[in-house]
Amino acid sequence: MDEALPGVTVSDTQSFDTDVLVIGAGPVGLALSLSLGLCGHRVIMVERDGSRGPQPRAKTLNMRSLTHLRRWGLAQKVREASPTPDDLPTDIVFQTRLYGHHIATLPNIYFRGNSHAGDLRFCEPSEWIPQYKVEEVIKTRLDELACVQQKYGTQLLGFSQNDDGVTASFQKGDEEELTLRAKFIVGADGGSSKVREIIGGKLEGRYAYACNYNMVLRIPELNKNPPANRGIMHWLINEDSPGIMGPIGELWYIAKRLPRGDSGMTEEQIDRYLQGIIGRQVDFEVMALDPWYAHELIADTYRDRRAFIAGDACQLRPPFGGYGMNMGLGDAADLAWKLGAVLAGWGGEGLLDSYEYERGQVHRWTVNEAVANYAVLSADLLRKDLEDPGSEGQTAREALGREAVEQKRREFHTIGLVLGYHYGGSPIVSGGNDLGAPVAEEYDPVAVPGKLVPHFWLAPGVSVYDRFGPGLTLLTREHASDGVTAFRLAASALSVPLEILTIPHEAAALFPEALVLARPDEHIAWQGDRVSSEEALVVMRKSIGRAGRHTEREDV
Ligand SMILES: Cc1cc2nc3c(=O)[nH]c(=O)nc-3n(C[C@H](O)[C@H](O)[C@H](O)COP(=O)(O)OP(=O)(O)OC[C@H]3O[C@@H](n4cnc5c(N)ncnc54)[C@H](O)[C@@H]3O)c2cc1C
Repeated sequence: MDEALPGVTVSDTQSFDTDVLVIGAGPVGLALSLSLGLCGHRVIMVERDGSRGPQPRAKTLNMRSLTHLRRWGLAQKVREASPTPDDLPTDIVFQTRLYGHHIATLPNIYFRGNSHAGDLRFCEPSEWIPQYKVEEVIKTRLDELACVQQKYGTQLLGFSQNDDGVTASFQKGDEEELTLRAKFIVGADGGSSKVREIIGGKLEGRYAYACNYNMVLRIPELNKNPPANRGIMHWLINEDSPGIMGPIGELWYIAKRLPRGDSGMTEEQIDRYLQGIIGRQVDFEVMALDPWYAHELIADTYRDRRAFIAGDACQLRPPFGGYGMNMGLGDAADLAWKLGAVLAGWGGEGLLDSYEYERGQVHRWTVNEAVANYAVLSADLLRKDLEDPGSEGQTAREALGREAVEQKRREFHTIGLVLGYHYGGSPIVSGGNDLGAPVAEEYDPVAVPGKLVPHFWLAPGVSVYDRFGPGLTLLTREHASDGVTAFRLAASALSVPLEILTIPHEAAALFPEALVLARPDEHIAWQGDRVSSEEALVVMRKSIGRAGRHTEREDV
């Protein structure tokens, strides 16, 4: 295949230990390895730690991430692994204390129960699940894939690259050194990424601008006597112990801001704080304590030739809005199909070039959103008289209720960003150049180049996305058969796997034009009402990163 990167050909596979070296077995490294492995590509995933601990970190798995997991065959398994009981409302509850006065509720922020009941906009509602459970589910699936090797307790020391590939060195245990050769390397190695350092990337923005403290506790009293207003997250607004807490299965997580200079809390301080935030003395057992810093940082480059970074290695933001892991899973999904297409021979260099543009733009929008969310915490919502039991207190709570909902709704109603982010302006998307930044609360699912293919159900439980193939997918109205022929010829000339799907009459309103060319990640590469064979070839070449090169066998 003329356009494969130098050295990336089937014939010399023997001289490589693997196709892709993935550094880091966090959610991003695991997801990237899985996505590549499911397409049969050889991966070695390396993790310096022996295993990953049970610190919950991310808890919101959003609808876009669950759509990726559905594509990887794991959405249902992840839901089964969630320790969240089905009857726990996915509400955000504002209160004075956990056993105190109610102020306001943002109900059902995950749209649970909607997706099969008429809301066509997505196939998978979000889920409340600790990060380590998501990681466990992906890892269990990886264990079944012979083409993916996992090396724990192995640390990347460095790598070099030439036109053909990457040679990386590792430390295993105290003494053993290991050298591996791969066609590509991806650093999913977190905020202090070694791969980022080696490719000369620098984080730009604000470093550690605030300090916070995460506690994971067992508090039996709260499970025996749950608070009156149950939810996944309680914003507790009072003078002495403001903070956020919520259940994770049998455990409770609590997050509070730490004053500058403090690095943690003693057990005695935790006891006093708990009494305040809960509003009652309780027994507790500490499961994990974790200070963390809020950053606003984005790397100035995501790639050097055959080396890429993804996830926290690219950007660090406050966790408010729950974007960290979710955005990283999006990076993995984007990079996996592009690397996969290049390894399979039909994708060109332009695909790899587009990664930084596409994900960088999403990172910038999302980091801005997370920083804005973090600007208003529980303590910032404190108003006079909130705990007054009489009518003054009632009036104060009602006024704050309106204000809190107004100020914080956007943090939790983010469908416009989660599903409405787009790749408009990307070098591999035809059109969608003027889309601008998505609006967090607004999502209008209509086909536009760069955006997600609007979701619809083909049959009960069968999403249109379930029919997408590993290559491109052409969605077409019934009358557009000339266009179908043109794209079939182009796909054949370029050896691109192509699925054809007919848009059913009921979904026609979502598609203003008769033909939509979609990528494996369900984003729209191009749309139009008609297309000649020559135009189809040009469009397809652009969509697979092979614009500007031409061979005789592609003549149609
Ligand atoms: C305390 C804490 C609380 C958080 N809370 C939230 C939250 O509530 N919501 C949210 O959305 N996000 C939260 N996050 C962020 C979220 O956890 C991250 O966005 C997510 O883990 C990023 O995944 P990743 O795979 O990119 O990186 P990581 O999860 O950091 O994984 C990187 C992996 O690479 C390994 N590694 C690093 N260097 C090397 C090397 N040289 N060789 C081999 N392996 C290496 C590391 O050991 C690590 O396992 C939190 C993070 C922390 C630390």
